[in-house]
Amino acid sequence: MQYDEIMVRYGELSTKGKNRKSFIDRLGNNVRGVLHDIPDVKVHPDHDRMHLTLNGADSALVMKRLSNVFGIENYSPSVKVDLDQALVDQQAIDMVKEQYKPGMTFKIDTRRSNHHFGLSTYEMNDHLGGVILNAFDDIHVQMKQPDLTLRVEVRNNGIFLSSQTFAGAMGMPVGTAGKGMMMLSGGIDSPVAAYLAMKRGVQVEMVHFFSPPYTSQQALDKAMELTAKLTAYTGKIRFIQVPFTKIQEEIKEKIPEGYLMTVQRRMMLRLTVALAEKRHGLGIFNGESLGQVASQTMESMLAINDVTTMPILRPVVSMDKNEIIDVAKKIDTFDLSVLPFEDCCTIFAPPAPKTKPNLDRTREFEQRIDVEGLLEEALAGVKMTEIHPGETFLNQQEDVFAELL
Ligand code: ATP
Ligand code: MG
Repeated sequence: MQYDEIMVRYGELSTKGKNRKSFIDRLGNNVRGVLHDIPDVKVHPDHDRMHLTLNGADSALVMKRLSNVFGIENYSPSVKVDLDQALVDQQAIDMVKEQYKPGMTFKIDTRRSNHHFGLSTYEMNDHLGGVILNAFDDIHVQMKQPDLTLRVEVRNNGIFLSSQTFAGAMGMPVGTAGKGMMMLSGGIDSPVAAYLAMKRGVQVEMVHFFSPPYTSQQALDKAMELTAKLTAYTGKIRFIQVPFTKIQEEIKEKIPEGYLMTVQRRMMLRLTVALAEKRHGLGIFNGESLGQVASQTMESMLAINDVTTMPILRPVVSMDKNEIIDVAKKIDTFDLSVLPFEDCCTIFAPPAPKTKPNLDRTREFEQRIDVEGLLEEALAGVKMTEIHPGETFLNQQEDVFAELL
């Protein structure tokens, strides 16, 4: 069916009182962002719903994009007819025909903002109900949970009919919660954490540590490719790459093996905090899950968190690995995450890191390296890019990856 409009219903944000208007404006901009290459569509974010006028654009493509936008509860594609009862009747029949199965139940649900047009809400429900009962042999009216609800909206500029409602991505519009720095590795967990942060309205900027020549160009490309995947939910994402080789070499040389991991993580965290301060980030996100590996115990978190008072948020902290993998598959990052390009942590990981590092000893050992000097040098080598939907980074050797996948 050729649709004319998509009607979008807001989720949680409809309860946000004074902030409501700015949330809706933000959602409108985010919707425009994911539709940037379909300029025919006009987005009208009104106070109780958003209307997308398609102007001939492909409704299936528009709905596919919409389904990723956080802050949307659901949406319905609709057909517009002129203010003429005969046209409404015919359109109602056409729409039911598309989904008709013998024995099915239906109801008509009319809303009216135009009070000059013919029938009242009640009369319209009654009249169209009769039209449908006449047109189909085996169909019945049912008010509670019918198989099909035909929504009819009588507005000043026409009458809009819709027969299907699709679930939106829920959550809050990206950007309404402020900016956060996402520590993104190439693993399974941090892309999922990034997705969950965005779902709650956080605008994320990716911070990725890499250690050439110990880590390959492919490992860096993989982190960028993961970021490109995640742009489906928000439009462009800033990607910040931080050189970490020198720090890892210093730590490897001067810190006892059991504390390598803890001190590395403290350095990563300090650098991420410095970047957050520079870029007006309010918090730091990572992909830690409690108990998953040595550095993800509470003792370890205590010893690492010690370097900052900035909030560290861990969206997957209480999820099991299988639950995280389910989300990774849903958001299509899993296949990329399992590509075997080692990141900087794997390579410098000691065979037996302490699962319960001691905070005082951590601080003591760390004095063996020049923390400030190393931070400054790494920050001086930071490179920032902006990654856009549709960009790819791993495609130069497609055949190789096709085999790996
Ligand atoms: P992931 O699947 O996200 O890599 P993981 O289970 O492998 O997580 P760790 O390697 O212990 O766990 O990393 C814990 C978290 O530290 C990661 O989720 C990520 O947020 C951050 N991190 C690890 N390596 C890097 C890196 N190279 N660059 C940026 N952040 C990193
Ligand atoms: Mg990892």
